[in-house]
Amino acid sequence: MIIKPKIRGFICTNAHPTGCAASVKQQIAYVQSQGELPNKPKNVLIIGSSTGYGLASRITAAFAGGANTLGVCFEKPPSETKTGTAGWYNTAAFHQEAKAAGLYANTLNGDAFGKEMKQQVIDTLKADMGKVDLVIYSLASPRRTDPETGEVYKSTLKPVGQTYSTKTYDTDKDKVHEITLEPANDDEIQQTIKVMGGEDWELWLDALDKADLLADGCKTTAYTYVGKELTWPIYGQATIGRAKEDLDRAAAAIVQTKATKKVQAYVSSLKALVTQASSAIPVMPLYISLIYKVMKEEGTHQGCIEQIYDLFNEKLVQEQPKVDALGRLYMNDKETNDVTQAKIKALWDQVSQDNFHQLSDYAGYHHDFLKLFGFDIDGVDYDADVEPMVNW
Ligand code: NAD
Repeated sequence: MIIKPKIRGFICTNAHPTGCAASVKQQIAYVQSQGELPNKPKNVLIIGSSTGYGLASRITAAFAGGANTLGVCFEKPPSETKTGTAGWYNTAAFHQEAKAAGLYANTLNGDAFGKEMKQQVIDTLKADMGKVDLVIYSLASPRRTDPETGEVYKSTLKPVGQTYSTKTYDTDKDKVHEITLEPANDDEIQQTIKVMGGEDWELWLDALDKADLLADGCKTTAYTYVGKELTWPIYGQATIGRAKEDLDRAAAAIVQTKATKKVQAYVSSLKALVTQASSAIPVMPLYISLIYKVMKEEGTHQGCIEQIYDLFNEKLVQEQPKVDALGRLYMNDKETNDVTQAKIKALWDQVSQDNFHQLSDYAGYHHDFLKLFGFDIDGVDYDADVEPMVNW
């Protein structure tokens, strides 16, 4: 099959197996070039392991820490006529590289919110790995089925409290335009908290604890984005921000209820980057194209793997990691400091349809977007016939 990108709106509906494998290899090479982590986690569970920040976490744990990894993801396998999802191919490539390096790796594909997946993870850990000393919670999902009631909750990306009008960039139509987003009602806020808040993170830790699979001093983290004034109305102070605030509640509850195991639970605040999840958020493609421009000029630009390696190396694996005033592992200072934000704001105020491509680094954004699906990667022959039926 010859595979070219099929872009529909903010998503690419296919993926390139060779390109995804090349991207995984690049990420592995990066962490290896940075050196081994100072304290190495032995057994790591990554919930949301196949793309974005979760995949970067898995690669860092395994290839800079030598860890055994168990991943959980929700990806579509390939068929004779359709490619698998990028996360499927990333996982297959990760397995191949882990095997070659003599590292244990296993991945379970299915709904992480359900009881069945939690049981499968427990059975796999008991059979193959034993207790975990690090649990990464990196799910990004538009919906969640409540495991007790079967009710389906949907997350919404809307402001809270008031209507918000702003600029946005439509990646499909190559157009900068004004949008007006109506505020969420209370039900939409509560549903978003159900999906992207901390409840399921707590359920995972409860299930692992009950099965006696948490090592003493086990660490766990869930990822958040805090941002600043430009993104607060659509992120930090919006429905998704409300859900993310619930992670702080969950972290405190995990520490309190797992005190006998001395579990350390942190919310890690990361930078805004192109991932499948963030490209779906209104305003984010415009904002990210501008921060790419500013941060590349400042020499502070990072992708998922660079950001996660630093998180692990500087904070997560340290015995007493330095936390911010809210108890979080804060990694986003290079984006949110006042000087950088002022430069982004100046560009934001000027940007229009006419100057968008000059003022922003949309080329860099678009390259990273294609790369998420294994496209636009140097050294990959996109005219070659490739086998889509890749497995792990
Ligand atoms: P992503 O879309 O790249 O990854 C999501 C992962 O979740 C994938 O592995 C996917 O397979 C898995 N997943 C989704 N639904 C699932 C389900 N029901 N069961 C099992 N697995 C499921 O997203 P990302 O951007 O890497 O986001 C990960 C976390 O990082 C999120 O909490 C997000 O809010 C946070 N974050 C993202 C950014 C950003 O700019 N992208 C910034 C800061 C924090």
